[in-house]
Formats: sequence, C-alpha cells, structure tokens
Amino acid sequence: LTQLFRPLDMLGMVYRTIRQGLIDMAQMFDLIDTPVEVADAPGAPALIVKRPTLTFDNVVFGYEPERTILKGLSFEVPAGHQVALVGPSGAGKSTIARLVFRFYDPQGGRILIDGQDIRGVTQASLRQAIGIVPQDSVLFNDTIGYNIAYGRGGATMDEVEAAARGAALSHLIDRLPDGFDTEVGERGLKLSGGEKQRVAIARTLVKNPPILLLDEATSALDSRTEQDILATLHAVAEGRTSLTIAHRLSTIADADTILVLNEGRLAEQGTHAQLLRIGGLYADMWQRQADAVEDAGVAAE
Ligand code: ATP
Repeated sequence: LTQLFRPLDMLGMVYRTIRQGLIDMAQMFDLIDTPVEVADAPGAPALIVKRPTLTFDNVVFGYEPERTILKGLSFEVPAGHQVALVGPSGAGKSTIARLVFRFYDPQGGRILIDGQDIRGVTQASLRQAIGIVPQDSVLFNDTIGYNIAYGRGGATMDEVEAAARGAALSHLIDRLPDGFDTEVGERGLKLSGGEKQRVAIARTLVKNPPILLLDEATSALDSRTEQDILATLHAVAEGRTSLTIAHRLSTIADADTILVLNEGRLAEQGTHAQLLRIGGLYADMWQRQADAVEDAGVAAE
C-alpha cells in the first residue's frame, strides 16, 4: 500500500511546490496570469555561481510582437555591487527583473550570470541563486516561523532565528504570545506593511542568495519605518550582487551605480552626483520629485 501511495505523495509534493512557486512569483511580480513560457534545455547543467556578475547584452524583449519594451539593452551589475534601476513608469523596470528570473526569454541578445547564458542552465539552479524582496509581500496563513523558513526547504530553527534578527524582527517576535509559532496572515495576526516586508527580508536571508532583486516599496510606509527598512535592506545587500528597482529616487542616492532606463534603452548611468552633474533625465526626475515633496509640504501647512 505504501508503494501505491508514494507516487501520489510525490505528485502532491510536486504540485505543492509548483503552486507555491507560482504564489511566490505572483506575489512578487503580479504574475498570476503569466503563462509558463520557458523550459530547461535538454541536459542543461546547473548555474555555477562564483562571483555573480549580472550582464544584459543587447537584450531585446516585448510581451507582444508588435510592441518592443526593451530595444537592445546592455548593462552590467558587477559582482558584489549595488545597482539601482530607475526610469519613468512603464519603462520596463519590472520586466528586467522578470527576465532575470527567466519568466520569459528575450527575443534578442543574452542575459548572463557569471558568464553563463541563463537560457542554458536549469531554472531551478537559476532561481536558487536569486532572492527577491517584493514590494508587497503576501504571507501564508501559517506561523511566522513557517513564513520565514519558506525561504529554503530544510532551514533549521537556528537559521530562522538568525534571519529574523537580520531582518530586525526579533523585537516583534519576542512580544508575540507564541513567538515563532504565532499564526499570521488572513486568519491570524495581521502584520503591518513594514512588518510583512521584514518577513520577506528574513525569508531572503534564510535563502542566502548571492544575487538580490529588490523591488522597492511604493506603498506608503511612514518615513521612519521606511528608513529603518532601507537600512536593513542595505545591510542584507552588502556583499551580494543586487539590483534595486526604485520608484523613489531619494532612497537610492547611495547606490554604487544608478541605471536610468528610458524608451527601452539605457539612457544614463553613473552615481547620483555624476547624474546630477550631467543635468539630463535623472536630474529632471530628481528635481520633479523634490518639487513634489516641497508642494506636499506647503499643502500640509
Ligand atoms: P512601474 O514603475 O510603473 O512599475 P515599470 O518600469 O516596472 O513600471 P513594466 O512593469 O516593466 O514597467 O512594464 C513595461 C511595459 O510592459 C508597460 O508598458 C506594461 O504595460 C507592459 N507590460 C507589462 N507586463 C505585461 C504583460 N504581462 N503583457 C503585456 N504587456 C505588459
């Protein structure tokens, strides 16, 4: 009888893994409707990550044939560097993250990690190497410990606790009646937006990936919470190859490099100070955000 059930068990496990994978992807990039379009090449090896430089080499991509979003995009995130990606709404910032995670393949050009074309390696090994901290994290209706441990199957309690500390969650968890066993989510304890994001950070710490994709929150966290979370994110990104999709410029001023995306191409790149000096698109965006903050200040008086 056990033998009869084992394949069913397996099937259940595979289904759960796929489904959870999809939930995870969906929560990260709003991908519920995304068809699975890519497949592993026959006999594809695993990605080998030593010093993971991320390279976009003349990448051309559109969701539909009649509308190209990326029109020959080239840039590099050197191993261990923190690079930020900015650009007008709809420029293709999230699309870039989706391509790195290989939800889609480009129609032209190549995406390389540590010199390996991501189309030539297994998707499992690719996704294992990449951690994503999404803007809006969805929690599973389970314990806070489970939600953190989900970052990597087989994580030990010590690892979960260390991740919670790294994500500055220990204080919250100490106050909970059942600690890590406290149920969270719809049917349990409701966490604030900032706390949910910290759980996502802890999940990523458990996964301990060499590459990080951060989709910076656009939703309103109060500025104190935002500063705290940014400090935590910076600490987590330290030493990893990280690409931050930024919606507000004030938060990425200290990135090693800022890439400015416009009309499917790399319009400018440099540090915050260099880009201000050029007086181009970035300087315009910076000025406009500064004006908006000032207007909001006047309106509040
Ligand atoms: P924002 O800062 O507003 O989040 P973005 O720079 O991240 O914008 P993307 O989400 O990458 O922009 O979208 C780039 C373009 O691709 C947009 O015009 C969008 O409408 C289009 N797009 C995004 N996802 C799909 C999809 N699944 N199918 C078709 N078009 C899409």
